[in-house]
Amino acid sequence: MEPLCLILFGPPGAGKGTQAKLLQSTLGIAHLSTGDMLRERSAAGDAFARELAAILNSGRLVPDETVNRMLEERIHRPDCAKGFILDGYPRTVAQAQLLAGMLARRGIRPVVIHLAVDYNVIVARLADRKICPNCGRVYGSASRPLVPGVCDQDGAALTVREDDQEQVVRERFKAYEQQTAPVLKFFAEAGYPSYEVEGGTPQAIAQQIEGFLQKHKQPV
Ligand code: ADP
Repeated sequence: MEPLCLILFGPPGAGKGTQAKLLQSTLGIAHLSTGDMLRERSAAGDAFARELAAILNSGRLVPDETVNRMLEERIHRPDCAKGFILDGYPRTVAQAQLLAGMLARRGIRPVVIHLAVDYNVIVARLADRKICPNCGRVYGSASRPLVPGVCDQDGAALTVREDDQEQVVRERFKAYEQQTAPVLKFFAEAGYPSYEVEGGTPQAIAQQIEGFLQKHKQPV
């Protein structure tokens, strides 16, 4: 059986990270979040990190060459040999083209999961989202901390992601509509099996995705 590349696709705040974490444990494959990689790199303190931080905090997309280089390096690591979940990549048609070439060369089969969540639901969700600066755990309306403002896992004070501020959220949606949404057409034209999920609890959505993957076990 070829390795699987599960592409989680959808607007900011659709729940890609939440699904990736749930599916990572059930499928036993690596979780690759370009947003997490970029945030980590932007904290390094050098000039490039400052440049990255400025882009992230504006809600715009990081240039393709930077993200492509990071992703290419990452998927060659041993933990990706059995397959991987992409969370937040590809986000432009140029990224999708690079990915398609890499998958074809390495005999990895792609499956696309489109998390189509209503705009108003997402805006409310992002306004409510808090994260633990230590362990990265995400809290929101579906996962409140036991003590308000404090991480259940390590007791750290929860913070708001800088790009979850309203003005930045608007920019992220604009980038999604203009640069990322067209990637869906690329997937369709490339013949990637894809499945659209509309709503439900995180667990219910993860189960739907697993059901879809069962049906698509055959190589494409
Ligand atoms: P969300 O999906 O909720 O917007 P992410 O953590 O995936 O959050 O992304 C945060 C930011 O990181 C994006 O707004 C963008 O600036 C940058 N980013 C993440 N992935 C990519 C990518 N594939 N291409 C370009 N920029 C990216």
